[in-house]
Amino acid sequence: MPTTADFERMLRGASLRVTGPRLAVLAAVHNHPHADTDSIIAAARTALGMVSHQAVYDVLRALTAVGLVRRIQPMGSVARYEARVGDNHHHVVCRSCGAISDVDCAVGYTPCLTAADDAGYEIGEAEVIYWGRCPRCAAAPHQEHPHQEHPHQEHRATSHQNEPVRPE
Ligand SMILES: [Zn+2]
Ligand SMILES: [Zn+2]
Repeated sequence: MPTTADFERMLRGASLRVTGPRLAVLAAVHNHPHADTDSIIAAARTALGMVSHQAVYDVLRALTAVGLVRRIQPMGSVARYEARVGDNHHHVVCRSCGAISDVDCAVGYTPCLTAADDAGYEIGEAEVIYWGRCPRCAAAPHQEHPHQEHPHQEHRATSHQNEPVRPE
């Protein structure tokens, strides 16, 4: 796991000024692969105290723009962020609960960038998403409300457990 000094080096290497929010967001993305923005905001707040949504969005945009962070957005999902960049790996997504795992290119190093026919385009990235069911969901096929990977939201839900439950 990279240290704060490593994160500082990464920011400087990308010509970004080292700031508290940038360090906290970079660390959050490293520690929580494929986290959504809400989880990253929660992690950044744990590290920094108060930091605005907008500040975290701005940092994520800056880190993505310089390639320190990769943004993925499977169909029907909110944007997720990861720090594993530059290897063009793919993702497998659970249709039931939205869990995401990394999948290496099927053979060798970024072979998916070599398209059978590139139609004259300069190809910089290939994105493959495998859709299926994660082991946890596959083991519980009759579960009506599959688990959600949103500890932040679960926390909010339990803090209001005395409120009447509204039908959905
Ligand atoms: Zn699942
Ligand atoms: Zn990934």
